[in-house]
Amino acid sequence: MVQTATEQTTMEKLVSLCKRRGFVFQSSEIYGGINGFWDYGPYGVTLRRAVEQLWWSEIVEDRDNVVGLDSSVICHPEVWRASGHIEKFFDLMVDCTDCKHRHRLDQMEDPEVCPDCGSRNLTAPREFNLMMKTYVGPIFDEEHAAYLRAETCQPIFVDFDLVRIASRQKLPFGIAQVGKAFRNEVTPRYFTFRSREFVQMEMEFFCRDNDAMEWFEYWREQRWRYYTDLLKIPSDKLRIHEHEQLAHYAKAAVDIEFQFPFGWGEMEGVHHRGTYDLSRHEEYSGKDMKYFDQEANERFHPTVIETSCGLDRMCLAILANGYYEDLAETKKEGKEQDVRVVLRLAPAIAPVQVAVLPLSKKLTENAEPLYHKLRKRFRAEYDDGGSIGKRYRRQDEIGTPLCVTVDFETLEDNAVTVRDRDEMTQERVGLDALDSYLADRIFS
Ligand code: ATP
Repeated sequence: MVQTATEQTTMEKLVSLCKRRGFVFQSSEIYGGINGFWDYGPYGVTLRRAVEQLWWSEIVEDRDNVVGLDSSVICHPEVWRASGHIEKFFDLMVDCTDCKHRHRLDQMEDPEVCPDCGSRNLTAPREFNLMMKTYVGPIFDEEHAAYLRAETCQPIFVDFDLVRIASRQKLPFGIAQVGKAFRNEVTPRYFTFRSREFVQMEMEFFCRDNDAMEWFEYWREQRWRYYTDLLKIPSDKLRIHEHEQLAHYAKAAVDIEFQFPFGWGEMEGVHHRGTYDLSRHEEYSGKDMKYFDQEANERFHPTVIETSCGLDRMCLAILANGYYEDLAETKKEGKEQDVRVVLRLAPAIAPVQVAVLPLSKKLTENAEPLYHKLRKRFRAEYDDGGSIGKRYRRQDEIGTPLCVTVDFETLEDNAVTVRDRDEMTQERVGLDALDSYLADRIFS
């Protein structure tokens, strides 16, 4: 079997695979779609949940000093006044009067030239607020206006004291939340990379100001390790972008970027936010948001280190990183090789971790009980339709790391063939050792 270097992954190929195999669909497709909104199909939702769970265990479950929160999507509108979103959360946009395309000013290489048609006939930059507005109650007027949250972190600050008291945490400690965020992005694009509805996974870590830079370095390192060690993204496809311009209250900020098929893009931010958020909510709510340090007998606003990532961008990076095409030998006449599409996903997050494939439908009686046993421990799928070669290809395309084939020899030797997705090697494994063999390959 010859494995060749892959062709450059293109977004079109990825989008087409996602649709064909049920990872991601355009929202409301039968009505022509709605720009910036996406639906996750059966394999997509499983992948997304697995990635979210990996983050949640890493950030919350495996630590004693980080606790969880699940807040409402709509908060009191004052929350967004205090955070500055109503006043300042906007993008500056320019329109090209020739090709009619709209561009974000901060993303234009030359702010005087349309990146699409090269025209210099551009409008002056205009502000577009990104908050999505709705109305709460029966009357649709400004008094009843509310906003869908633009980020998941603000409710963490608002609930800081309630969570601290309930969880009896002392500094330093963190509060994490996963949930939907909404932004009225003016130019949603690059598939799920920039959407109008997306999932954020954020953690705010509250600490003493003296220790804050040490915690910043700690979280930056932890988050880098998450991508390389847990998601198995090669470090040459990742980079750290240090912010040159910092918010007036911040001491440091970096982005972790991934090399997407369309270029480098932010996946996560690690930010030193100072004491800004708690002091602003204290100012706007009139409620004391300080922490009382019993040992030092001091009251102060804790300093915050934030890790903030987008689940959809992370999944897109995982899919782009895993997408390969290699040339496999084929038995088809007139064709010596054909292209095998394979998603090399880390086994921990693959939507299907093991597929059980009986060589013939006559083996159902033996293969089905094995599948029912394995699905208790692994995300498993059963497939008995079509030739074995086609079934392997179907599993390769959705990133299944291991396929277990039950054949007629199984009846004699109580063993099955385990086929490896990446190497395409096959190994005979005894049924009594299968469970621990698979666990070793999938969880280690
Ligand atoms: P960008 O500069 O790309 O607009 P941002 O700096 O505004 O992103 P943050 O406000 O720091 O992003 O949000 C934290 C994370 O949330 C980002 O790193 C990204 O992964 C995710 N995110 C932000 N906006 C979107 C979006 N429109 N669609 C999908 N994910 C998003």
